[in-house]
Amino acid sequence: MSRYHREFRFANGVHELLMPDIHKYLLSEGYEYRDFDGEQVYKKGSGWVSAPTFVKIQASKTVIIIEAWIKTALLPGVYVGESGIDGFYGAAPKGILANRVRHIEQMITNNGGVDAANATAAAVGEKKNVFCTKCGAKNDADAKFCVKCGEKLVK
Ligand SMILES: [Zn+2]
Repeated sequence: MSRYHREFRFANGVHELLMPDIHKYLLSEGYEYRDFDGEQVYKKGSGWVSAPTFVKIQASKTVIIIEAWIKTALLPGVYVGESGIDGFYGAAPKGILANRVRHIEQMITNNGGVDAANATAAAVGEKKNVFCTKCGAKNDADAKFCVKCGEKLVK
C-alpha cells in the first residue's frame, strides 16, 4: 500500500523533448499539473466521485523517476490513505492509472531509458569493476595493478 515507484536511467541523457511529451500526454488524459500537499504532481479526479489519481515525474539529465498513487477519500477532500497501482481495492481506477503509467514508461524506453532495477552496469554505460585475484579488492575496469596490494590484474 505504498506508492508505485520506478526509476529509469539514460546513458545518453534524457531527450529534450521527452519530458514535454510526457507533460502533454498527461494533460491530454485530463490531468492537471499542480501543487498538492507541497509536491508538484499531476492530479486527476476530485475525490467526490472517484479516488483521485496522482502521477509525479522527476527528471534530471540522466534519470527519470515515476511515482504513481491513488488517494482514498473518506469524505470529499478528506483523504485517509495512499496506495499504489497494484492490488484489488479500487481496481478500476488503479487499472486506468496503471495503463497511463505503462504508456509513459513506453515513451521513456522508446527514448533510451533503462529500468534502473534491471539495468546492468554496461547498459547504462558505466565501467565494470575487476576484482583482484590475490586480495579481492575492487578495482576500476581499466586498472592494470591492484590499488590495494599491487598485484597485476587479470581480465
Ligand atoms: Zn590486490
